[in-house]
Amino acid sequence: MDNWDSPQNILVILAHPDDPEFFCGATLAKWSRAGHHITYQLITCGDKGFNEATLAEMTTDALCAIRHEEQVAAANVIGVEAVHFLDRPDGYLVADIDLRREIVRVIRKFRPDILVTCDPQTLFAVYGVNHPDHRAAGQVVMDAVFPAAGNPVFFPELLVEGYVPHMPKEIWCSLTMQPNVKVDVTETWPTKIDAILKHKSQIADLDKFLERMKSRRTQDSTDENPRYEENFRVVKYR
Ligand SMILES: [Zn+2]
Repeated sequence: MDNWDSPQNILVILAHPDDPEFFCGATLAKWSRAGHHITYQLITCGDKGFNEATLAEMTTDALCAIRHEEQVAAANVIGVEAVHFLDRPDGYLVADIDLRREIVRVIRKFRPDILVTCDPQTLFAVYGVNHPDHRAAGQVVMDAVFPAAGNPVFFPELLVEGYVPHMPKEIWCSLTMQPNVKVDVTETWPTKIDAILKHKSQIADLDKFLERMKSRRTQDSTDENPRYEENFRVVKYR
């Protein structure tokens, strides 16, 4: 962030609606407040994200539509300028060549300075085993950035479509067990919570959720002065 002297174009590519807010929403809100431009690209619409509160009489199509709306509402709270969906089927993401081409197209289309995704190496997360879609999303984004997005020899059909090579200058991997950057997000933590609360279909027990979010405060926090951080593995390309 030290060299972000002008407003940066920030593209967030993650698997599901609610991933941006849960993984790094407070950091995104902080960046938005600082004048940076943020766009979301979600790979699925989270159409299998059922819980006991949404299971009855719900179809995947209906849930997909609900989750589009919830994601746009949450993004508005964060200060995101645009939200896009690829609507790949939830739960079946594989970091294959087809998806890599699609992500290279997205990177070349939006031409971000900063790309945000999640760490593909996180198999065991704080809450148990990490979702395979999260791992696949992180993997395909890393694979798309290097060596494909900035190299015209990769996916020449995209050149024909008009998508010329583009290389982001930094990748920020959220949901990591190997952080090299910790962002103090105490100020925007309440915004993160407000944004997550827009994902109503995903919150079965509000009290439990609020308790869980409170428990995320740093170890040096006190009741009078709680402090919150979000962690990233950052890779700089230039
Ligand atoms: Zn997810």
